[in-house]
Amino acid sequence: MDKQTEFVLRTLEERDIRFVRLWFTDVLGFLKSVAVAPAELEGAFAEGIGFDGSAIEGFARVYESDMLARPDPSTFQILPWRSEAPGTARMFCDILMPDGSPSWADPRFVLKRTLARAAEMGFTFYTHPEIEFFLFERQPGPGEMPVPIDASGYFDQTAHGPGHDFRRQVITLLEAMGISVEFSHHEAAPGQQEIDLRYADALTTADNILTTRQVVKQVALEQGVFASFMPKPFTEYPGSGMHTHLSLFEGDRNAFYEPGAPYQLSKTARAFIAGILRHAPEFTAITNQWVNSYKRLWGGATRTAGAGGEAPSYICWGHNNRSALVRVPMYKPRKGNSTRIEVRSVDSACNPYLAFAVLLGAGLAGIENGYELPEGAEDDVWALTEAERRAMGIAPLPASLDEAIRAMENSELVANILGEHVFDFFLRNKREEWADYRRQVTEYERDRYLRVL
Ligand code: GLU
Ligand code: MG
Ligand code: MG
Repeated sequence: MDKQTEFVLRTLEERDIRFVRLWFTDVLGFLKSVAVAPAELEGAFAEGIGFDGSAIEGFARVYESDMLARPDPSTFQILPWRSEAPGTARMFCDILMPDGSPSWADPRFVLKRTLARAAEMGFTFYTHPEIEFFLFERQPGPGEMPVPIDASGYFDQTAHGPGHDFRRQVITLLEAMGISVEFSHHEAAPGQQEIDLRYADALTTADNILTTRQVVKQVALEQGVFASFMPKPFTEYPGSGMHTHLSLFEGDRNAFYEPGAPYQLSKTARAFIAGILRHAPEFTAITNQWVNSYKRLWGGATRTAGAGGEAPSYICWGHNNRSALVRVPMYKPRKGNSTRIEVRSVDSACNPYLAFAVLLGAGLAGIENGYELPEGAEDDVWALTEAERRAMGIAPLPASLDEAIRAMENSELVANILGEHVFDFFLRNKREEWADYRRQVTEYERDRYLRVL
């Protein structure tokens, strides 16, 4: 038995933990949980706990449905919102097949495989997410408009604002679970909040994002409000993104940093960005996986009263350019190790394991194939004309889930990163979502056409 496993088993006893929740996600990123008694854990660590894979979205067909969840002891944490004694803890799991081999349906395994490829090239991959979401007064019923909990805006500090207590409680719980929060603030839209997790290796960050979503929902429940990570709840307000800062390290050295180079970006960083730009159309279905995700990305094109709110619609990069897909943040001359790039398309409702896998895979393709980084765009690309953008070689991101699916279908890169099982399931599932959406006749259409046609 390894040290971590021993530590978990000892802690269970010492802290009187009666329930251990085993967590994993389905292919779309929904958290699944099974609670086991501590007595079951030794077996769970050795062989995993059996469950019916066919009941989990994207996992297995009915005739090959037996699967196992094996907890990863390094992710053990006590849930601070459950009472102290007897307590409840959680661990993230890897999903195994009955013969003990890893399941190709497991999103965590997709990310682990891509991280292993990076490791072969000598890199560790770090991510830092800015998680945006809305708080509403209550859960709206079908057809009901959600009511934001406040009317504040970006960085507003309102005395006794409900968002303030909310963020404070979320951060307290996250820190009790060993997750550091770097920043938190009110975002631009009414009721909109942001919580930025401190950077960590990508697998830890993905686990931490799932935990944060859970904690946000939990605190909302306790405080009698309702939280949503839906990418664009309102036409007239900005949506919720999950800008993600990325960097590669070689040992202790930031591989993106080169003193004296433009923006201090090394050759590795430039090729990595080039990979992200070249493959962006192919992986956007993963980073922005819902019909609604594209209302956020394309709200920016019209910019009526800031409706798009700094979400990218075009494939380009820039230094401190908030309309670009990839932004190279301001750098502090003496802090080389903080050199990183920010990808701004990703939204808060993605599956972070898959999203990090495709971002990393695209960047590594850039490094392996020595892609050239195109010229940076320092203008506001929303304000340029179509012809100007074309002249600069700036292509649009997919404008709908349909376009994104079509671009992904032909992507060898994304197929390789996800593996055939996840790739096929995902496309099938998303084609169904699109087909269901496109046959809906909406209120917008009746308002616009019924009277005049
Ligand atoms: N909410 C904006 C988005 O949808 C981002 C605002 C910002 O943090 O710059 O991407
Ligand atoms: Mg923000
Ligand atoms: Mg940002």
